[in-house]
Amino acid sequence: MNRFDEIINKAKEIVDVAGNKTKEMAELTKLRLQASQLRSEIDKNYLKLGELIYQLNKAGTQNQELIDMSVAEIESQLVALSELEDKVNEMKKVVKCPQCGAANVIGSLYCSRCGASLENCEACSEEEANEQEDCGCHDGQDNQICESCQSQEVSEEKTEE
Ligand SMILES: [Zn+2]
Repeated sequence: MNRFDEIINKAKEIVDVAGNKTKEMAELTKLRLQASQLRSEIDKNYLKLGELIYQLNKAGTQNQELIDMSVAEIESQLVALSELEDKVNEMKKVVKCPQCGAANVIGSLYCSRCGASLENCEACSEEEANEQEDCGCHDGQDNQICESCQSQEVSEEKTEE
């Protein structure tokens, strides 16, 4: 009988019940950690590359192949880093309430300030919310696609020929 495990599992269940927000925060923290680890790896490789060039120069030799390999490694790490950063930015997106303009965590069904439904505008980002007074998709104008998030579909314009 392992009571300690039981307690841990119970705690995990509670965390799960706490919902998506917590999971997203944990995921975001994880991604940020990975990004910062990768950044320091890249820094190390820059140093190694610099040292390599220094040593080669000092010895009066050339080894372009070695330099190319080092550059290629850094390049692939930079690509991975920018992918990570994209994910982080993606996760930082918020939903702007169409009624009151409050920024809500993406995935929220209702505005935390006024309670309006947020289902139609999930992709509006925080930046866009700051830039634009209104995203245009819930402004009393029917059948409009949101310019910034394009999440609201044009309601059935029956194609009659
Ligand atoms: Zn609101």
